[in-house]
Amino acid sequence: MVEEAEALARILAAARPLEIVEAPLSSALGMFLAKPIRAAMAHPAFDNSVVDGYAVRFADGQTHRIITGEQPAGRNRKLLVNPGEAVRIFTGAPIPFGCDAVAMQEDAQVEDGQLILSEPVDLGDNIRRAGADLAAGQLIGEPGDELTPQRIGLLASQGISAAPVHRRPVVSILSTGNELRPPGETLADGEIFDSNGVMLAALLQSIGISAEVRHCRDDAAQTEAEIRRAVAGSDVLIISGGVSVGDHDHVKPALRAAGIALDLWRIRMKPGKPLAFATSEGKLIFGLPGNPVAAFVTFLVLLRPALLQMVGATGPARFLPERSVTLATPISNPGDRPHYIRGTLAEDRFTATGLQESHALFGLSRSQALLRLEPGQQLSAGDAVSGLIW
Ligand code: AMP
Ligand code: MG
Repeated sequence: MVEEAEALARILAAARPLEIVEAPLSSALGMFLAKPIRAAMAHPAFDNSVVDGYAVRFADGQTHRIITGEQPAGRNRKLLVNPGEAVRIFTGAPIPFGCDAVAMQEDAQVEDGQLILSEPVDLGDNIRRAGADLAAGQLIGEPGDELTPQRIGLLASQGISAAPVHRRPVVSILSTGNELRPPGETLADGEIFDSNGVMLAALLQSIGISAEVRHCRDDAAQTEAEIRRAVAGSDVLIISGGVSVGDHDHVKPALRAAGIALDLWRIRMKPGKPLAFATSEGKLIFGLPGNPVAAFVTFLVLLRPALLQMVGATGPARFLPERSVTLATPISNPGDRPHYIRGTLAEDRFTATGLQESHALFGLSRSQALLRLEPGQQLSAGDAVSGLIW
C-alpha cells in the first residue's frame, strides 16, 4: 500500500499543465492565467467626474458662474472652463480643461443660466484622477491567478477579450459493472443505478471540466477496448469500479493488455484503498473504487488537485480549502488507515453525517466537509481541528 502523500506527489508529478490557449472571457470563469498580464493603459484612463454636477474652478469660490456647456459621459468634447464659468457634467464624463473641482448637483442651483453653489467645493472634489487605480504597464495578473468574476472584470476594463490560459483537459469517465443501469431505466433484481457516472461528471463540472460518461460491462475485451478508445481520445480517463482483485474486476488486466503499466495501486486511506493510477503518453488514467463514497473522496483529495494543476492552478489553489472546525461530537479512528469522515458544518461545528461507510451516499449527500483522522486518533467534542471544505 502506498502512503497517500506519496500517491498525491506521484500523481501531481504526472499532471502537467496543458497547452496555452486564448480563452474568451465569456467562457474563462474558473480557468487560470498562463502568462503575466500588464495593464495596457492606466485606470482610470482619463480624469473624470465622480458625480452628476458642475465642473468648476476652485479659485472662483462662491461666486455665481455662467454655465457654458455640457459634457456627458462618452466622447470628450474638449470643453474649457474659464474663470467665472461652469460646465454641466455627468458621472464618468471627462473633466474639461481648466476645471479643478466638480460640484455635486445636489449642492447646486441654476438660475437664469447661472450656477449658484450652496456648498463650497474643495480643490479636486469629485474628480477621479487618471491612473489612480492602476498605472499603464503595471502587473495585473500572474500565471496561476484564477479567473474569478472580478478578475475577468478587470481584464475586460483593459480591453482584453480573451485571456491566455491552459486549456481544459478532455476527460472520459468509464463506469464499469454488470450490475449498473442508467438512472431513469428499470432495474432487474440485483441491479443498481449508476450513480458514479453523473456524480463524477458533476465533480468535474464544479471545476469547469466537462466529461463524456460511458458504461462498460465486466468483460475483459470490452474493458480493454474502452480503455484504448478513451486513452486515444482524452487527456484523462477516470474509470469507476472494477479495480479490485475480484474475478470480475477487469480494469488492471485490461490496462496491462493495453500496454499500460500501473504507477500506483492501493492507497493507505479510507475510503479509497483500491485506487489505481497509470499514465500513457502523457495521459492520466485513474481507476477509482466503485463504492460511491470512495470514488467521491478519492476524487476530491487525489484527482481534483491533478486536474486543477493541468489547467494551471498552482500552490494551495489545487487543494480543497481548509478551515478550522469544532467537533460537535467525539470522533475516533480505530482503524489502521487515515479515515476521511464526512460531515455537515453549522457555523463552524462539524457533525459526522450518517453511516460512515463507502457505499453510504445519503450521509455523503448532506456533507460539506471532510475530516482526516489519523489511525488511532481520538477526538473529543469541542476539539478544534482542520476540516476540508468543498
Ligand atoms: P467494484 O469497485 O467494481 O468492486 O464496486 C464496488 C461497489 O461499488 C459495488 O457494490 C458496486 O456495485 C458499487 N459500484 C460500482 N460502480 C458503481 C457505480 N457506477 N455507481 C454506483 N455504485 C457502483
Ligand atoms: Mg464492479
